[in-house]
Amino acid sequence: MVDQLLREEVVSARRIVVKVGSSSLTTAAGGLDADRVDALVDALAKLRTRPDAPEVVLVSSGAIAAGLAPLGLAKRPKDLARQQAAASVGQGLLVARYTASFARYGVRVGQVLLTAEDASRRAHYRNAYRTLDQLLTMGAMPIVNENDTVATAEIKFGDNDRLAALVAHLVRADLLVLLSDVDGLYDGDPAKPGSSRIEVVHGPEDLAGVEIGSAGKAGVGTGGMVTKVEAARIATGAGIPVVLTAASQAADALAGRPTGTLFQRTGSRSADRLLWLEHASSPRGTLTLDDGAVAAVVHGGKSLLPAGVTRVEGEFAAGDPVDLLGENGHIVARGLVNFDARELPRLLGRSTRELAQELGAAYEREVVHRDDLVVLRG
Ligand code: GLU
Repeated sequence: MVDQLLREEVVSARRIVVKVGSSSLTTAAGGLDADRVDALVDALAKLRTRPDAPEVVLVSSGAIAAGLAPLGLAKRPKDLARQQAAASVGQGLLVARYTASFARYGVRVGQVLLTAEDASRRAHYRNAYRTLDQLLTMGAMPIVNENDTVATAEIKFGDNDRLAALVAHLVRADLLVLLSDVDGLYDGDPAKPGSSRIEVVHGPEDLAGVEIGSAGKAGVGTGGMVTKVEAARIATGAGIPVVLTAASQAADALAGRPTGTLFQRTGSRSADRLLWLEHASSPRGTLTLDDGAVAAVVHGGKSLLPAGVTRVEGEFAAGDPVDLLGENGHIVARGLVNFDARELPRLLGRSTRELAQELGAAYEREVVHRDDLVVLRG
């Protein structure tokens, strides 16, 4: 048989984020499956023997799944408190399992737990980047998961697919590999005859008419094909190609063999944390802008000043994400606000110079700085 052509996007990648789902790490009866963890680790360790030894960040689900049996839970609980208890117990077990498995290759692992908040606050974002980068520099394998134990329902990523896309962007990866129990995206229900695997998605136009299925599914994980396609959309839009395949084909996929579905990049790399602000943050309030401010923010690339704000809603603190609305109530942008909600009302409609004279230089600042703001289209 002639060797199939290898995927250039994969073989040239120097930094790869690999995401694995809960159902690919657990046994049918529940609990971590040591063999499946080992098989994944074998595939990742093999990459290190490639002459260019690409760096890998592993985003692994499985904390909640691993915590169920030890806590006497027969299935994934519906309430957040018990899910968090399971994640707390399971995360330790999960990392212990990886630690032992990577130790077979002399590789150290480093646990990194992120929340959506870490994703959108500048200081946290930089810090997360530095830690991940440092682990890679020191030859360790970062193992990322959502910090399930502290995230509340509103701010939870919920699925690690989107988290993985944002981590890929955060660490400036050249490739994102999503591993699950399905071996790619199909043009119909994979269980039905006649549907076939889509090998390459060149852009959103290739997805028109593809039935992606429902987000939720029974079992231990939370993601479905919808969250994977959404993750692929975020990553490819940020210039990172994505391979979606089965965990059992990880080694082939990472060797560049054309398994699963390759989503080609559609966009170019965008400014650092703004992707997180758009996709990972939950706004804590809204600011309504007059028409002049909308034009300045949306088309002029300007910061939002107090003079352009007509209304404030929500309970937020300085540094929180807020949505910026036009007078018609449509969201035009999202940004990190520089004032607490209770400080803002008396500043509205007033010029920064006036405010500085009356209240002091600290009040001369923008309500949302242009560097902390992402214009939302559509
Ligand atoms: N963070 C969750 C866990 O580790 C999984 C989220 C997901 O299923 O993607 O259990």
